[in-house]
Amino acid sequence: MNLLRTILRKLPRKLLLSREFHMCTPLRHCSGPLTQFTDDEIIMKDAVAKLAKEEIAPIVRRMEKEGKFDDGVVQKLFENGLMGIEIPPEYGGTGSNFMTTILAIEEVAKVDASVAVLVDIHNTLINSLTMKVGSKEQKEKYLPKLAKNLVGSFCLTEPNSGSDAFSLKTEAKKEGNDYIINGTKMWISNSDIAGVFLVFANANPSAGYRGITAFFVDKESAGLTVAKPEDKMGLKASGTCMVHFDNVKVPESNILGEYGHGYKYAAGLLNEGRVGIGAQMIGLAQGCLDATIPYTLERKQFGKEIFSFQSMQHQIARVATELECARLLVYNAARLVEAKKDFVKEAAMAKLVASETALKVTAKCIDFMGGVGFTTDFPQEKYFRDCKIGTIYEGTSNMQLTTIAKYLRKEYS
Ligand SMILES: Cc1cc2nc3c(=O)[nH]c(=O)nc-3n(C[C@H](O)[C@H](O)[C@H](O)COP(=O)(O)OP(=O)(O)OC[C@H]3O[C@@H](n4cnc5c(N)ncnc54)[C@H](O)[C@@H]3O)c2cc1C
Repeated sequence: MNLLRTILRKLPRKLLLSREFHMCTPLRHCSGPLTQFTDDEIIMKDAVAKLAKEEIAPIVRRMEKEGKFDDGVVQKLFENGLMGIEIPPEYGGTGSNFMTTILAIEEVAKVDASVAVLVDIHNTLINSLTMKVGSKEQKEKYLPKLAKNLVGSFCLTEPNSGSDAFSLKTEAKKEGNDYIINGTKMWISNSDIAGVFLVFANANPSAGYRGITAFFVDKESAGLTVAKPEDKMGLKASGTCMVHFDNVKVPESNILGEYGHGYKYAAGLLNEGRVGIGAQMIGLAQGCLDATIPYTLERKQFGKEIFSFQSMQHQIARVATELECARLLVYNAARLVEAKKDFVKEAAMAKLVASETALKVTAKCIDFMGGVGFTTDFPQEKYFRDCKIGTIYEGTSNMQLTTIAKYLRKEYS
């Protein structure tokens, strides 16, 4: 039983049965301010914040130096229900809602963006698609493990297909009841520790993108190799590797969802995933600001704390305001996902603004710190390096703008 579910079970029965509690359940979330959460969302947010502060924060720099996650941290994420947030309890998950996932990613990112992207991809891409389109057998086989100890990697990008993801060249050829997968995936997050890979391969190249099909590929599969992690400017603890598929044989039963629907699934998932990246970015920016404002209240120049200079106050107030705007966009997109409304434009706006705001906030925080902000003795430089990826992965800022423009054209035509 994971920690969150244990806490939920301990809530007074009177409260669980009360009208107020059920007015605020995930399916009928509170219709108040976007920053008002349900009781279970608050419980998860607080529990994750505590875990991040006590278990992750003390070893962030070590993990960054070593370029890998501490095994104990990954285990703690599983034990505390963070790797199966929306997986139903009958499969060993926490059974929470999408907003809870978003809050969890945000809280973890306040402390470390690398751990946050592990939580994000695992929940918003791997678990999500398995829950949505997995067969009964696949759910029974994978969901309990994904909630307990199996890390999933999302394999879409290739050396020659990034923004143009559906021009991918990895092929899956049918042979009897099996498929033989050949190709190379690039930039695959967490592939160094993954036990299962969600691979998008074309099973019918003559049909173009309509041949793209999603496959579960287990790590032990013969012919699957993970290259050494890329040497990146940020997110150093998160292993980002090439993954090679050399005649990797998978049974037909490993097709996730329908044959030829991979492009639809990937596009749909990434729309939700973008809200997760937005959450990672606002969490990271908030963590950076939280580490900076106290310094400006202590540091004295010209006989005064530097916070007392009006030009400093205005800049700090501006970035805090812009961060709040980004946060509201992210929360709104998350609530739209839960409400099963069209959220594609709002998700693109949320990711665009959150990632660009995080860049501004972290750069400004370094300025507010002066020279020490430029050293590794303080965390601002790491936040700054970690946040650059936000405008690139799960669709670059240009691709978000293209999506937003597509919607605007439709609305005004
Ligand atoms: C750290 C990291 C982790 C990642 N994790 C994963 C993962 O787990 N799984 C996965 O599948 N992928 C992952 N990716 C891949 C990531 O999603 C891609 O890098 C991203 O989609 C951009 O593709 P690209 O790098 O090929 O850039 P390109 O597509 O080559 O883009 C280069 C530039 O051209 C611009 N551009 C391209 N096409 C257009 C257009 N039509 N209009 C306007 N501008 C355009 C882009 O905006 C960008 O500025 C990861 C990448 C990184 C760096």
